[in-house]
Amino acid sequence: MFSKILIANRGEIAIRIMHACRALGIQTVAVYSTADKNARHVRFADEAVEIGGAAPRESYLNIPNILHAASITSAQAIHPGYGFLSENAEFADAVAAAGLIFIGPPADAMRAMGDKSEAKRRMKIAGVPTVPGAEEITSVETALATAETVGYPVLVKASAGGGGKGMRVVRSAQEMPEALEAARRESKNAFGDERLLLEKYIENAHHIEIQVFGDQHGNLVHLFERECSVQRRHQKIIEESPSPLLIPEIRVQMGAAAVRAARAVGYFSAGTVEFIFDTQTASFFFLEMNTRLQVEHPVTEMVTGLDLAQWQIRAAAGEPFPFSQGELRQQGHAIECRIYAEDADFFPSTGRLLKVIEPPNARVDSGIESGGAVSHFYDPLLAKVIVHAETRPAAIAKMRTALREFVVHGVTTNIDFLQALIAHDDFARGDVFTRWVETIFRWSPAPAPLELGRMAALKLTPQPAELSPWNIPDGFRLSAPAAFSLPEDWREHISVSQDAVCTWVTWQGQTTALERTRASAHGNAASGELRAPMPGAVRAILVAVGEMVKKGQALALMEAMKMEMKIAAPFDGRVVALTVSAGQTVEREQVLLTLEKS
Ligand code: ADP
Repeated sequence: MFSKILIANRGEIAIRIMHACRALGIQTVAVYSTADKNARHVRFADEAVEIGGAAPRESYLNIPNILHAASITSAQAIHPGYGFLSENAEFADAVAAAGLIFIGPPADAMRAMGDKSEAKRRMKIAGVPTVPGAEEITSVETALATAETVGYPVLVKASAGGGGKGMRVVRSAQEMPEALEAARRESKNAFGDERLLLEKYIENAHHIEIQVFGDQHGNLVHLFERECSVQRRHQKIIEESPSPLLIPEIRVQMGAAAVRAARAVGYFSAGTVEFIFDTQTASFFFLEMNTRLQVEHPVTEMVTGLDLAQWQIRAAAGEPFPFSQGELRQQGHAIECRIYAEDADFFPSTGRLLKVIEPPNARVDSGIESGGAVSHFYDPLLAKVIVHAETRPAAIAKMRTALREFVVHGVTTNIDFLQALIAHDDFARGDVFTRWVETIFRWSPAPAPLELGRMAALKLTPQPAELSPWNIPDGFRLSAPAAFSLPEDWREHISVSQDAVCTWVTWQGQTTALERTRASAHGNAASGELRAPMPGAVRAILVAVGEMVKKGQALALMEAMKMEMKIAAPFDGRVVALTVSAGQTVEREQVLLTLEKS
C-alpha cells in the first residue's frame, strides 16, 4: 500500500479523497492555485504545494507542475478526482512515466472511452446498445441526412464532450446550421476539438447509469444503478439509488451490459457506464462511460456499504476486490442533492462565504466553509448532501430536513430550489425525466415575508423587548406594516449575515438576500445597457458599433464556470457603444454594450 498520495484536485472531491486516504493510514498532499491559497482542501491535507495561477490551465490542468509537486513531496501515487485531468490519458501516461501510480483505470481504457464517437463504435462491436445516429458529422448536409433517417428531434454532441458542453437539441432542419456552429464553437473552446456526432434525441428519457468496479486481477462487477434524471442544462442535480423506475430484469440486463462495456476496453478501478432509458419502449442505450469516480458516487456507497474512493486506492495498489457479483447487495435507498452556487436562472454566483452551517443528520461532502471564497474560475459545485434510509419516502423526508437545515450565506445557492424539487409530487412518484425541470417544473423564489427585514435587523442589533422605529438599523427597503407581530420563537430560528451589499437571512429553511443597495438588473430593457449576468470572460463580441440588431439576436458570448452564454438584444435597435472586448474578464453587472431603441 502507498504511504503518500497527491490529490490533483480541489473542493469537495479533494477532501473526500483525503478522508479515504486517512482511513487507510496514507499521508496526503494537496495542490492549489493562487486563488485557492486559503481553501479548505489545502488546510485539510498533510502537505500542500502551490502549482500556479487561478486559471485551471495554469494550475489544476498543469501536468508538469503537478508532477513536480509529487516529486518534491515524494508522493507515490496521484488521485485525479473528477473533472480537470481525471479523464486525460496523457496525464495518466505522464504519471506512469514519472514512475508514479495513477489512481484510476488503464490509460488505454480512458482513451477508448474518452471520445464519444470512438466509444460508440466500440460499444456496437461489443454488443452494447447505442442510440441511433452518426458517429461523425462533417457537414450540414450529412447532419441533415442523418437527422432525416433517424427522425427529429436529434441531438448534436461534441465527440470530445463532457459536462453537457457542446450539445444542442435540433428540432427541425432550419435549426441545424446554427446548432452545429454553436456546438462546434463550444467544443473548440472547451476541448480544443471540433468533431461532432449526431444521434436521435430521446424525449422523456431517464438517465440511468451503472457503477462498475474492477481490480487488476480480472474481477469486474457492477454496483447497481443510479437514477440521475433530475437535471438542468443536461447536468445532474439530484441522484439516487435504486432507480424508482427499474424492474429487476432490466437492472440485471443493464448491469450485464455495463460489465460488457467495461470488459471491452480492459477496464479496472471505478467507472460508470451511462445509459439513456427510453420510457416509451422500456429500452436502454449506451451514452458514454466515465472513466473516473463520479460526483454522485456516494449514493452507491450508501446502498452497497463500500467506500469507492478507498477501493480505488486499494485496486491501484494491486489489491484484489474480494466480492463476486452474487455477494453484492443494494440496501435501502440513498439520495444525493448537489449544492450549487447559482441563482434561480442557473447562473453561477460568486463571492465570499459569510456563513456555512451543515445539516447535522446527513452525510455532507463539502469543499466550503465560512470565510471561504467562491471564484468564477472553477465549477460552482459547493457541496453534496447525501441521505440513506430504508425506503424511498423515508429518504426523501430525511433530505427535506437536511436541506432546510443547510445554511449558506454570501453567495446565492440552489438550496431553496432543491427543496422545491424534492417536495414535488412528480418526484415523489419517481416520475421525472431528464427535461422535467426545464419543461414541467415551475419554481421561483418565494417572496420574502414582510417581517423578514425587521427580524434580521433585530437579530443583528439586539434590542429591548419594546420596539421603536428609531432604533432599527437603516437601509432596509422592505416596509413593515404599522403594527406587526413576530412569531414567538423566531430568534432561535433565524440566521443572519451581512456583507457590503446584502443582508442574508435564513428563516424557516428559506434563504433571502435582502439588497440594501439595489443593483440594476442585467438586460434592463429600459436603459439599453446590457450587463454581464455573471462574472466571467467575454468570449466574443458579435456586433459592431452602429450596427442595427433585432430583438433576440446574439450580441456577445460570455463564458463562466464552464458554461457558455448568449447575451441577446432585448429589443430591436442600434449598437451605440461597446464597453468590453473579447477575452476580457468582467464582473457581474458590468456594462458590456449599449443599445438604442429603433
Ligand atoms: P456529457 O458528457 O456532456 O455529460 P452525455 O452524453 O453524458 O454528455 O449526456 C448528458 C445528458 O444529456 C444526459 O444525461 C441526458 O440528459 C442528455 N442526453 C444525452 N444524449 C441524449 C439523447 N440521445 N437523447 C436524450 N437525451 C440525451
